[in-house]
Amino acid sequence: MRSNLVAGNWKMCGDSASIGKLVANLKALLPAEPGVDIAVFPPSVYIVQVVGGLAGSPVGVGAQNVCEQPKDGAFTGEVSAAMLADAGCRYVIVGHSERRAMYEDSSERVAQKASQALVQGLTPIICVGETEAQRDDGSTLQVIAGQLDAVFAVLSAEAMRGIVVAYEPVWAIGTGKTATPSQAQEVHAFIRALFAKKDELLAKGLRILYGGSVKAANAGELFAQADIDGGLVGGASLDAQEFSAICRAA
Ligand code: 13P
Repeated sequence: MRSNLVAGNWKMCGDSASIGKLVANLKALLPAEPGVDIAVFPPSVYIVQVVGGLAGSPVGVGAQNVCEQPKDGAFTGEVSAAMLADAGCRYVIVGHSERRAMYEDSSERVAQKASQALVQGLTPIICVGETEAQRDDGSTLQVIAGQLDAVFAVLSAEAMRGIVVAYEPVWAIGTGKTATPSQAQEVHAFIRALFAKKDELLAKGLRILYGGSVKAANAGELFAQADIDGGLVGGASLDAQEFSAICRAA
């Protein structure tokens, strides 16, 4: 009952010329009916360009961040969920570990961001994940539960039907160290069980993506796990060949 989703997070990479090429290559390589959901997440100033470039293709576009404020106003430097929807976004990543670590996005603020995204009809991809030190000291599941508790405090079970969760172990991001399929599956099953405590049907339908050094060579094995419903891909999503191979693996 869950369709896989492959999401390409381009992070703060590229310029209008390189992004134009990437979009053209993706359009050429991806089939018209890929059989999985696919989305890309350009830097915000290129969203409009990418939405235009991908018009008529099955690939959705999302933003990498959003402001938690519900209304326009004096929030210099911020972009609202309404603006992202207006620009043609269908998704938005919230709570990426880089934003949690470098830009002080607390779990509470991440939940507010997800809430605003839902109000505007966007699908928030809520990222959770432990650091290497937390994995080593055995607190992985506790850390994930804490990050999701903030979401449970803000969103109703009904609202949570519109979200996607991404498990991204911080130690696997951009390091080439992928979680093994069984390490990832253990956390994914734990996340689904947390949602099942709120609502069984919600948990069954919830898409949980894995992120952290996903590439074509390891995607098939990861996506074959019972509770892994696709991937949130960083570095490998900047290469159209590699990204389309990952989409085929889903
Ligand atoms: P990498 O695929 O480069 O490890 O990045 C993962 C990620 O952070 C996606 O959001």
